[in-house]
Amino acid sequence: MSINASGWRPEAPVAGGKASPTVTGNKGLMLEEKLIFEIGDVETTGVDFAEAPPLQGRGWGGAVPGAGLGETSPTPSPSPEGEGSADLLAGLFRTTPIGLPGLSEPETVRHYTRLSRQNYGIDLGFFPLGSCTMKHNPRLNEKMARLPGFADIHPLQPVDSVQGALGVIHELATWLITLTGMHGVAMSPKAGAHGELCGILAIRAALEAKGEGHRKIILVPESAHGTNPATAAFAGYQVEDIPATAEGRVDTQALIARLGPDVAGVMITNPNTCGLFERDMRTISDAVHAAGGYVYCDGANFNAIVGRVRPGDLGIDAMHINLHKTFSTPHGGGGPGSGPVVLSEALSPFGPLPFVAKQADGHFALIEEETAGDDHPHAFGRMVAFHGQMGMFTRALTYILSHGADGLRQVAEDAVLNANYILRSLDTTLDAPFGASGPCMHEALFSDNGLATGFSTIDIAKGLIDEGFHPMTMYFPLVVHGAMLIEPTETESKAAIDQFVAALRSVAERAKAGDVSLKSAPHFAPRSRLDETLAARKPVLVWKEPVLAQAAE
Ligand SMILES: *Cc1c(COP(=O)(O)O)cnc(C)c1O
Repeated sequence: MSINASGWRPEAPVAGGKASPTVTGNKGLMLEEKLIFEIGDVETTGVDFAEAPPLQGRGWGGAVPGAGLGETSPTPSPSPEGEGSADLLAGLFRTTPIGLPGLSEPETVRHYTRLSRQNYGIDLGFFPLGSCTMKHNPRLNEKMARLPGFADIHPLQPVDSVQGALGVIHELATWLITLTGMHGVAMSPKAGAHGELCGILAIRAALEAKGEGHRKIILVPESAHGTNPATAAFAGYQVEDIPATAEGRVDTQALIARLGPDVAGVMITNPNTCGLFERDMRTISDAVHAAGGYVYCDGANFNAIVGRVRPGDLGIDAMHINLHKTFSTPHGGGGPGSGPVVLSEALSPFGPLPFVAKQADGHFALIEEETAGDDHPHAFGRMVAFHGQMGMFTRALTYILSHGADGLRQVAEDAVLNANYILRSLDTTLDAPFGASGPCMHEALFSDNGLATGFSTIDIAKGLIDEGFHPMTMYFPLVVHGAMLIEPTETESKAAIDQFVAALRSVAERAKAGDVSLKSAPHFAPRSRLDETLAARKPVLVWKEPVLAQAAE
């Protein structure tokens, strides 16, 4: 057995991870787990139900082992004895068993616990996804969000009975306005991208109110997050790219040269997705305003500048804040998220309904309608049914109050310090395309330049999994070939970052030396290298019982 320069023993793991070295498939105490449809059966249950009354006629009369998912009857079915339920169900009586797999309680507990161990989360280890800001979620936030006065209320409750909750929304709004130096804030959008849509709709409403609805172009720099052009297009605008400079910032001259009477506005991510601060922001804003347009700032990376920079001072008209990035609320796997949008004085009148207003007597009102005579007649509409994500508001305000203004500033400073430590620890091992552009902000960017022929970013990412680290963001931003974007956040200790740096350096050296074992990594994960292209192009989204699937063919 040979040990190469990086100490890796290619013979050790099973190549490709296909053959299992154990009879069970378990690896140590990491247990294999089948799908619940494979381990459960329709005749088992962990609960004792009373016998159901028999159904007459055509309806389903009992469990049929092995039957697939049930069907409902399109025509009125007979009712259960004496109940007249057919009418209640509008004829949608189930005619076949539902086929849900049953397990005993201990089996159920084990099934989900085993699955949860195959998941990786911020509470398990370092989560360096760039642009995503996977921050620690303080437990104090959770405790506050679970207080019954916040957790057990309903959006349709009388306003008088939820004054405390409305007070929380108002106080969070006040903090967001103060921290950003803006005029107003729309609290209801439910994610960063949703906030972008809110901001662009406010811009559209403002332009239409001025009789300038013919402006159809939104300028988006190459270094923008992918959601920016998607949002502009979704709101009916044409998107035009503005190139980046060699140092990874927006080409200010090219942007200013493109401004004109057809341009509705610009969308600029700051700090941008190369992890760099856009220094010309004020110049850009002034030029856009002079040309009659508005400035949208993607503020997803506000965590890098909170307490240091106020977007309002940069001439920004609208900016979303991802509470799950800057203010430590959990990423919700698509929800429930929260992406409030701060607005300039020019755009505030067009912000969406509803919103919380504090009245002279200290009472909180929920402004729900744009009735004539009230002070918000120009609202462009609503983003959501109610007023947003109470649980996220409570967590974010808890985070803000427990840090204070000085603590928030230190959050940004520590996040930037950690990212620069990673950048400078690895820029002799990996190519740092903008390493010469000065310090980075909250995330460090590397490229796959210099790896052995045939090796790319994905091999490094998969090698990191074997080392026990969630991979960094890959192949984004698009302006850098084989991009690796690493965001440590502020709560990682120097020891944790040093360990990550050592792991990444070792994997990168193997990729530079052409170590073929890396091409089939990960070797120690429950599943080894998958065909991700096939999985994306032909996803198998429905489990079919193998026998039934065969019979159907
Ligand atoms: C995360 C992110 C978004 C999108 O935010 P979501 O809350 O995921 O919708 C937009 N822009 C940038 C720069 C981001 O990092």
